[in-house]
Amino acid sequence: MSKKSPIIGILALQGDYQKHTQILDKINVSSVEVHRAEDFERIDRLIIPGGESTVMLKLMKRLGLEDAFTEFIKNKPVWGTCAGMVLLASQVNNHSQQTYDAIDIVVDRNGYGRQYFSSVEPSLFEMNGFCEKINLVFIRAPRVINVGKGVRTLISWNNDPVFLSQNNILVSSFHPELTGSSFLHDYFAHNFQSDAYK
Ligand code: GLN
Repeated sequence: MSKKSPIIGILALQGDYQKHTQILDKINVSSVEVHRAEDFERIDRLIIPGGESTVMLKLMKRLGLEDAFTEFIKNKPVWGTCAGMVLLASQVNNHSQQTYDAIDIVVDRNGYGRQYFSSVEPSLFEMNGFCEKINLVFIRAPRVINVGKGVRTLISWNNDPVFLSQNNILVSSFHPELTGSSFLHDYFAHNFQSDAYK
C-alpha cells in the first residue's frame, strides 16, 4: 500500500538539522529547511533538531519566527528532539528558561550530565505491532522529571521516560537522527498523528 508523505519542515537555525534531512531523503519523505516565518506555510509537520535550546530561542526571536512557530505547534504534528524537547516542555529547570509549553512535562536541562557523559543505550520501540531496536543516543540530554496526565510514554530508559507524546506533540530526549535507523522518522512522517489521538 502506498503511503502519502507529508512535507516535513526541519527547524534549521542551529544544531544537527542536516542529518534529519539526509534520513528523510533516504526514506523518500520530502523535507524543507525552516529559516523564515513563511516557511511554516509550506510544511505539514515539523522536526526541531538537537542543538542548544538557548541559542534557538534567541535566533527565533531575532529572525521573527516566534509567532509562526507558536501557531504551528498548536495543532500540527511536531517532534522536538533533545534541545527541541526543551523548547516544547511546560517547564525547564537547571536553569529556568522560556518554553513554548506545548507538552505537559518538566525537564532538567543536561539532566544526564555534561558532554563527557554522552552515551548510547540499546532499547526497543514497540507500537501497534511494530517493534524496532533503537540505539538511544544521549548528548547533554534533558531528563524528564515530571509527566502530566495526558502525556503518553512511548519509550523509557532506566525508568525515565525518553520518548513521549501528547496530542500533536512528540518529544525525545535522545537524538533520533543518530540511532542508525530511519524507523522513528518513518513513524513520525506516516503514523504519528493517528497514534497520538488514540
Ligand atoms: N543541553 C542542550 C539544551 O538544553 C540540548 C543538547 C542536545 O540537543 N544534544 O539545549
